[in-house]
Amino acid sequence: MPNTKQPEASHYINGQYVEDSAGKELVTRYPATGEVVASLYAATNNIVDHALAAADAARASWAAMTGSERGRILRKAADIIRERNRELSVLETLDTGKPLQETLVADAASGADCLEYFGAIAAGLTGEHIQLGKDFAYTIREPLGVCVGIGAWNYPIQIACWKAAPALACGNTLVFKPSEMTPLSALKLAEILTEAGLPDGVFNVIQGYGETGGALVDDSRVAKVSLTGSVPTGRKVYAAAAKGMKHVTMELGGKSPLLIFDDASLGDAVSAAINANFYSSGQICSNGTRVFVQKGILPEFLARLKERTQKAIIGDPLDEATNFGPMISQAQFDIALSYIKKGIDEGATLVLGGKAHHKGGLYVEPTIFSDVTDDMAIAREEIFGPVMSVLPFDTEEEALRRANDTEFGLAAGVFTSDLTRAHRVVAAFEAGTCWINTYNLTPIEMPFGGTKASGVGRENAKAAIEHYSELKSVYVGMGPVEAAF
Ligand code: NDP
Repeated sequence: MPNTKQPEASHYINGQYVEDSAGKELVTRYPATGEVVASLYAATNNIVDHALAAADAARASWAAMTGSERGRILRKAADIIRERNRELSVLETLDTGKPLQETLVADAASGADCLEYFGAIAAGLTGEHIQLGKDFAYTIREPLGVCVGIGAWNYPIQIACWKAAPALACGNTLVFKPSEMTPLSALKLAEILTEAGLPDGVFNVIQGYGETGGALVDDSRVAKVSLTGSVPTGRKVYAAAAKGMKHVTMELGGKSPLLIFDDASLGDAVSAAINANFYSSGQICSNGTRVFVQKGILPEFLARLKERTQKAIIGDPLDEATNFGPMISQAQFDIALSYIKKGIDEGATLVLGGKAHHKGGLYVEPTIFSDVTDDMAIAREEIFGPVMSVLPFDTEEEALRRANDTEFGLAAGVFTSDLTRAHRVVAAFEAGTCWINTYNLTPIEMPFGGTKASGVGRENAKAAIEHYSELKSVYVGMGPVEAAF
């Protein structure tokens, strides 16, 4: 089996690989062929306890290091990731089925950017001085303690880095649980952090299903939980964290709108609609799956969109010419096809695709529906597959009202050459992350996250620091203390 990538053991705790074969078996397969990539074990209670104990024991000395010492380690890890980008990208492609063409630029590379960014700002994380006449106050920025990260399967190493980098920069320790479908790259990240000089126990990885995530969230040693996942899981994890009054970051799902006005650059708008729906075979949380197109340009938009989408190269994700891969799993494949059937049954017009790909496997054709109405399931529910809904509109006011008519609020985009309108529209969007004349770019320097049911808190940029640290306020009296009696 050429694509076997069996790690030394299932978990990485206290700077080393750890196994406990009493755990439930956890097999990861290459989605393109179904061949087994690795066979691991889910964490037992002992492993969960071991990881949390390691993170708890490591936290005082890690927090006591200076920000510049911590930052140096994160930046070194970023360099190692860049040196090993191809190897890590191949691993990510085997685990997720995403084309190597994508993973080479979007996964480990984004993780390295994140470690570098938070490595660079770690030394500058401070409190402030507040003068109060002769008295004064100051604030101390403190880490939260042991944090738990729980990841989704679509961007495994990126998600692990997006949680680890700010958490560690602030002086926290972390136990990370990847999705059971993509267990491998977080283990590599743990190895790399150790190689970069991270003290044992500061970053730990344990494998498992939802119940392992639940056990981590419930543990009283945990101060903060950061989840990337679906809205239903988010509701459960948020509620469980509330029992212990724990800090949370919730990066959840979406059904984001992309508004294309008739004065937009049509070629760019078509490119953005393709990126917003078919990159990673549509398995991206912030995708703009409701594409609202002003009626005057609708026929030309659809013609150009269809012509370009037909050029997708569907094939083996390890072939660098491939730019469209399979779904991650049978379950996700079934979900995508069931929504396509719903779209057809509800009366939307199928412009392109609509079937499993003739080559077999878990490939679903890039699918475009037009004449979609706001009440259809394909326009209301997150599919997490390559299914684009195109909805015609007349006016800006109408488009905005319909764009915001959703429980989600992760992202939104607008294409127009009218500068004033672009800013007016994003100001009115009920969404955490917006784009003007582009879509789905998520540099580490820009905060990322959702509003409404799509989440709580922000990842990346300076904003993430507020979610991985807290302020202690200190009032200093400089004169006599007065009392009533
Ligand atoms: P899930 O919500 O199914 O799972 C997310 C993670 O939570 C997995 O590691 C899962 O474990 C774990 N989990 C499941 N149940 C529990 C529980 N009760 N307590 C603790 N942990 C639990 O999401 P998917 O993995 O299917 O990912 C797809 C979803 O993620 C989509 O909705 C997508 O929009 C969203 N997403 C959001 C992003 C964002 O930044 N906003 C980015 C990427 C994806 P296991 O998988 O082992 O069951």
